Amino acid sequence: MSELTMQHWIDGQTVVEEGVPIIDIDSPTTGKVIGGVAEASPELVERAIQGARRAQKEWAAMSLAKRTAIMFNFRNLMVERQDELAAIIVKEGGKTHGDALGEIARGLEIVEFACGIHNALKGDYTSGASTGVDIHTIRQPVGVVGCICPFNFPMMVPMWMHPMALATGNAVVLKPATPVPTVSLTVARMYQEAGLPDGLFQVVTGDRQVVEQMLASDGIDAISFVGSTPVARIIAEGCAKSGKRYQALGGANNHAIVMPDANLDFAAKHIVSGAFGAAGQRCMALPVVVAVGGAADPLIEKVKARAEALVVGPGEDPASELGPVISSASKQRIVSWIDEAEAAGARVVLDGRSFQHPDEQFAGGNWLGPTILDNVPLETKVYCQEVFGPVLVVVRADSYEEAIAIVNASEFGNGSAIFTESGDVARRFELDAEAGMVGINVPIPVPVGYYSFGGWKGSLYGDVKMHGQEGVNFYTKQKVITTRWAGKADEHVGLDFVATKDR
Ligand code: NAD
Repeated sequence: MSELTMQHWIDGQTVVEEGVPIIDIDSPTTGKVIGGVAEASPELVERAIQGARRAQKEWAAMSLAKRTAIMFNFRNLMVERQDELAAIIVKEGGKTHGDALGEIARGLEIVEFACGIHNALKGDYTSGASTGVDIHTIRQPVGVVGCICPFNFPMMVPMWMHPMALATGNAVVLKPATPVPTVSLTVARMYQEAGLPDGLFQVVTGDRQVVEQMLASDGIDAISFVGSTPVARIIAEGCAKSGKRYQALGGANNHAIVMPDANLDFAAKHIVSGAFGAAGQRCMALPVVVAVGGAADPLIEKVKARAEALVVGPGEDPASELGPVISSASKQRIVSWIDEAEAAGARVVLDGRSFQHPDEQFAGGNWLGPTILDNVPLETKVYCQEVFGPVLVVVRADSYEEAIAIVNASEFGNGSAIFTESGDVARRFELDAEAGMVGINVPIPVPVGYYSFGGWKGSLYGDVKMHGQEGVNFYTKQKVITTRWAGKADEHVGLDFVATKDR
């Protein structure tokens, strides 16, 4: 039995459910069990949903000034406690302390946007649309929102959702990713400390069974999901069946084109960061470079020199630049995909498969060193699927036209980048790239909080992205109100909805 068992947070308190399965939390750094996650029963998930429904009604009626005051308090608590939050993320997820602080900072952008939600909720007004008739719009909360999250950003991805959902007047039922639940349970306590009424932020832990109940329940009005593409599809189908609003962000396989005129030192530096940061476990990681013409050989040399100097080690060590991957199953899958590509003719430029941490206490960790593969056949898994590990695949092309065709053939369309010194080529790429987020000399073009985040093709099911104005639209329903008052103007109006000269 594990040393620490995570339970649920419902109606402002910890809830322990007896007799349910406990899923181990393994440390990615040591391989040892460091905790357990209770798999909530369908009855408990429903209890959390119904508690959220009760709390939401009063919350939706509360003034914007009061709601945003709570968001301000929450924002200040996050800033004060970011090191504590980062330490939890590092312990369960294995990323470096710097990466953990980075995801908190990106999450904070959304809280800060939510602090100013009154701006985004302003409606339209048309005076005198018809004789004596005015029209205005309001946005009202959808109700109870189910948030289902992936392991790789235990803090940031839920924060794409809950600050926006709460500030717009909804209640949230959050299911964190199974291996990394603790930071969400800590956030729940912080919201309470910030003054959020109980029941508005519920956390139920577990895996598939919890998601299935959220999909089945009539008490959930909308689902925000981020995770892999196959599960995004399950969410989209489940929501379509039960008539829920949904946004389901899936996986990615982001490409960057490097043109021969690019500043190759600059490109190499940013490609290393894009490919190997967070051990490649980012939906906006950069696992594929399409090198055009003469760019390939010098670029590979420069990338290799930087990548082999990266310090691989535990996230708690400030010297570490690259932590372990999340699980031994993930490590085995990545190694087997590298093996397959090598057997198919790819050249292994840098080989991280056999990396072992020298310190005995980390011998059981899921270590992989940075790996670079050149001339990778396009039908191999490591090229065409999402590797989600510290692997950079290099593909060669003779021209921009060939390169963009390779980029756009991907089943995913999350992010895409180009390195070039030519404004003309950059502009062509900006228009040609079939991706939701595009970088010009920027390898990981994650939009700031007041823009919206989301991809195209297999990277997003549903058409509404996360945060920014699209996030506001997702968590609210617009209403159009047409008003007329009996009085002098009324004398001129004919039958309603009939076009007359008196309109
Ligand atoms: P995952 O799809 O395995 O899990 C995501 C969530 O779905 C988890 O909470 C999990 O418990 C639940 N889940 C898993 N299988 C399920 C099933 N069969 N039925 C119902 N629910 C299920 O993803 P992950 O491995 O935790 O995270 C990595 C993935 O997330 C990668 O594919 C990555 O690209 C993606 N991701 C995408 C974005 C984006 O913005 N597009 C951002 C971060 C991560």
